[in-house]
Amino acid sequence: MRCLIISDIHSNLAAFEAVLADAKSRNLGHDIVWCLGDVVGYGPDPNECVELLRTLAHDCLTGNHDYAVLGKLDLNTFHDSAADAARWTRATLHPYNLSYLDQRPETLSRGDFTLVHGSPREPIWEYMLDVATAEDNFPLFKSSICLLGHTHVPLIFVEDSGSKTVRVNFPEPGVPFMLRKNCRYILNPGGLGQPRDGDARASYALLDTSERVWTNYRCEYDVKQTQQRMRKAGLPAKLIERLEFGR
Ligand code: ZN
Repeated sequence: MRCLIISDIHSNLAAFEAVLADAKSRNLGHDIVWCLGDVVGYGPDPNECVELLRTLAHDCLTGNHDYAVLGKLDLNTFHDSAADAARWTRATLHPYNLSYLDQRPETLSRGDFTLVHGSPREPIWEYMLDVATAEDNFPLFKSSICLLGHTHVPLIFVEDSGSKTVRVNFPEPGVPFMLRKNCRYILNPGGLGQPRDGDARASYALLDTSERVWTNYRCEYDVKQTQQRMRKAGLPAKLIERLEFGR
């Protein structure tokens, strides 16, 4: 099966549409989309993003921003700008889209793959950015491979069963990464709607489950269009600016 792996759309329709068009133009031929949470929050198009996702064959998790918008967590735990965006998103979302988000699970198990937003230890909250965090989390899931998002940074953590060590790889866009049978992996496709690795392009990945290949891709999208729509919606300037820097 070929899975298009996306995470952290964050209400960025221009980026979402660009990724789907990019996958099509590369003939990736995916059978399903796995979305690792945070469909909304930050960006200007929450309804449009939920509705586009719902037209695709997909599975989708809940993320911390989805939770915030649903009123399931205290907005005091968010930075001011993220909290403002969450309030705006809640007021903007149609009830049927809120109800869609409300029904998303925190974790999913698909064959040899565990799907979470943050980490196996803290599916909604934990940021997996370093080897120490990965070492703590590898014993906490049973499958060979865990897919997660939340940090908006594309990363590959490898647990080598031979050397019993964990290391991190930075994927090179467009270059296939082979998933070996004697290793376990934690894979992050990067942020679709708000990249944070210094590259403003939308990030996603293709996972071929039978060939055991993971490939990260980056694609340009119309950042200015998203920024204009955010200004029109009155969303915080800080959130508008960061999109062009990928930070
Ligand atoms: Zn996010």
